[in-house]
Amino acid sequence: MRTTQFFHCALLAFFALFTFSSGLVGQNKKTNQQLVIGDIKVSKIQDAEIYLNLSLLSGIEHQEALQLTSGRDSILTPVNAFLVQTPQHTILVDAGIGQSGGENSGHLAEQMKIAGVDPSEVDLILITHFHFDHIGGLLDSEGKRMFPNAVVRASKSESDYWLGDSSKLPAEQHERAEQIKATLQPYIQAGKYQAFLPNEFLGDGIKALPANGHTIGHTVYAFLSKGKDFWCIGDLIHFGDIQFSRPSAGVVFDTDSPMAIRERLSFFQQAESGNIIIAGAHLPEMVRIKKSGNSFRVIPVKSR
Ligand SMILES: [Zn+2]
Repeated sequence: MRTTQFFHCALLAFFALFTFSSGLVGQNKKTNQQLVIGDIKVSKIQDAEIYLNLSLLSGIEHQEALQLTSGRDSILTPVNAFLVQTPQHTILVDAGIGQSGGENSGHLAEQMKIAGVDPSEVDLILITHFHFDHIGGLLDSEGKRMFPNAVVRASKSESDYWLGDSSKLPAEQHERAEQIKATLQPYIQAGKYQAFLPNEFLGDGIKALPANGHTIGHTVYAFLSKGKDFWCIGDLIHFGDIQFSRPSAGVVFDTDSPMAIRERLSFFQQAESGNIIIAGAHLPEMVRIKKSGNSFRVIPVKSR
């Protein structure tokens, strides 16, 4: 089976409860949010938009969730990557769904060009985890590397689990493991894939912070420039309208729900106390957060 067909099957399975937005193409032409943090320029790159149904939530009553969304049963949610331009690197954090998700996904390259960067200029790709809305865009529609000059990096635990001997995994994960391998293989073959250890420094003020729970090796990427911090938090949060107010609410595709909740709370508390700007793969904007009681609220960040 061709890689693109692999993707399609994976997407259908993984997004069984998701619906792609039909209005994406028009909305997606708007300028990306951009911030300057110290010497770093960050651009939100929206690859797709999907509807997330409240039935994906766990640990919260449906009625309470409905109150927080003003009665909406499905939430229109972006699938973001982030372009991080440091003095030494042109970095992409995550790679979106990619071309095989249909016409309402796979806008990564076009959105990067709006931000003034060609995919060939990217020299480092940091993957938060191996779900398909984060790695699908690594390949073009022909299954070739979309980023020919980039080294792809992800945590050793995520790599060991999915790229190791598939026969050791539960049977229901075999197909997914093969799909992930097929996605990363072109980079591995080219000598452009490198795993890292927890809390490893990746150079140029970048540190990989383990944030396990959503997946076995989910990672938050911390960027520090001129005393200012910026975090790409991946899938620490999916429902911005709900999980800031109720951080103890999870999603059904968290691998280890209690751990995911603990990590979300811990990172949110650190982000608040450190006044750190956070960028989520499924948040509409890069924001700061403020704690009140057991909840957090969003503080908008001025774009440049
Ligand atoms: Zn995701």
